[in-house]
Amino acid sequence: MKQPTRYLITGGAGFIGSHLAEALLEQGDDVTVIDDLSTGRMENIQHLLDHPNFHFVRASITDSAVLDRLASQVKTIVHLAAAVGVKLVVEHPVYTIETNVMGTEAVLKAGLRYNCKVLVASTSEVYGKGSKIPFSEEDDTLLGATSKSRWSYAASKMVDEFLSLAYQREHGLQVVVFRLFNTVGPRQRGRYGMVIPNFVRQAVQGDPITVYDDGLQSRCFCDVQDVIRAIIGLAENQDVTGQVFNIGSTTEITILDLARKVWHAANPPSRILDKEKPSKALATALPQPATEIERIIFVPYDQAYGEGFEDMRRRVPDISKIKQAIGWEPQISLDETLQHLVQSYRPE
Ligand code: UDP
Repeated sequence: MKQPTRYLITGGAGFIGSHLAEALLEQGDDVTVIDDLSTGRMENIQHLLDHPNFHFVRASITDSAVLDRLASQVKTIVHLAAAVGVKLVVEHPVYTIETNVMGTEAVLKAGLRYNCKVLVASTSEVYGKGSKIPFSEEDDTLLGATSKSRWSYAASKMVDEFLSLAYQREHGLQVVVFRLFNTVGPRQRGRYGMVIPNFVRQAVQGDPITVYDDGLQSRCFCDVQDVIRAIIGLAENQDVTGQVFNIGSTTEITILDLARKVWHAANPPSRILDKEKPSKALATALPQPATEIERIIFVPYDQAYGEGFEDMRRRVPDISKIKQAIGWEPQISLDETLQHLVQSYRPE
């Protein structure tokens, strides 16, 4: 049996961090979470607080005394603390840049001091407006102008990546960078602009689904449980240090098709017919429960994000590198994930 490992998860009260903490505890590891609860939430980790191998510290990663103490107690750090979500990033660019760059620097320094392995979360945003599909780790990147604050997130994460790899090359820090593509699952919130929590809320409440632009932009959505498996796989593998890996699903869907899928997951024909209680004969004669078209509204980008917003049309990862390194590929389909989200939906 594998010896338990002591982990520090920065941003561990967030969506991905809390799922990671849960999975590590389940396999017998020891987990400390540091989170300032800026976007993370206590309720994400409430159920873990009584676990004997779980420790929570409410602090910012820029509090060097706290970070230093915590790093001294662990073998592996998974650095997830960051300003995330397009909406947050567009509205608070100073906060985004400072949190992402200074926070990562602090974590790398602490990791180096105590000889920890450090896994740094990055993002598919670093591929920017690149049009070569799929995106693979060695591709060139193409970001928009610095006058468009959306790109500050990608740029700050690129600095994080450069810095991480430089710590590895110059100081021998064991570091792994992983670029997360669109990730989805319970506890993700729509408040920061993520599309699936928004759509699920709208569909379950019977509100119109807000599709931005023409809805023909596409993404690949990976279930958080698959993503967690990839992160743990990278943490446990000794041959992946100094490298960058994509983590994501390769099944592409347009946002308009996604809206339809979510609508149907939340409003299956049986449920609609049941609500309206038509006679059996009438029920079979009824057309499709309807009005999918009326349930989707198209919102221009300017209205959704403000003037001059730039979106990317397609984003698909090449995951051959991680597949070859640790044998990882996603296993959970988008339909399964959406069913689960609709069934477990609770208002935010
Ligand atoms: N989007 C949408 N309606 C929403 C929220 C997002 O149509 O209520 C679109 C958004 O413009 C983008 C896609 O869905 O094209 C994915 O958005 P998200 O913010 O989840 O992720 P990212 O833009 O980082 O891929």
